Amino acid sequence: MEEQKRSIVNAQVSVERFHDISMGHRVVGHEGKCKHLHGHNYRFHFVCVGEQLDKLGRVIDFGAIKEYLCLWIEEHWDHKMMLWEQDPILHDLSQLLPEDLVVVPFNPTAEEIARYMVEVIGPMQLRGTGIKLKSCQVEETSKCSATYSLL
Ligand SMILES: [Zn+2]
Repeated sequence: MEEQKRSIVNAQVSVERFHDISMGHRVVGHEGKCKHLHGHNYRFHFVCVGEQLDKLGRVIDFGAIKEYLCLWIEEHWDHKMMLWEQDPILHDLSQLLPEDLVVVPFNPTAEEIARYMVEVIGPMQLRGTGIKLKSCQVEETSKCSATYSLL
């Protein structure tokens, strides 16, 4: 009985939604072809958790995940080129194509993009909702992805 109680207390329910965007990037210092400007059809998986379920029994409505997270990346990142603020080509490209760039404070690997979503964008977009973005998986291809998770 005691064991059963403990397992309930330790359980957590989460909800997940994914969203696809197309975005360019390059990885500064990469040993291979990822040092070149190129792009991916990225798939972002958002996993959200809350303190408790709402009156209807939900962590949050799936439509709200779309509104707060999916549409944010759609609006800010889709069909743009993500570059590190310390990328040596940034200055020249920003003269030519300022509206095509997303400048970020990290070298834009899948790992760093996932971390930024969980540590910066999630808290910003979900403020006041009572839920948090627990993890984000960023797929560069169907074979390759990185995940950043709060413990
Ligand atoms: Zn890439």
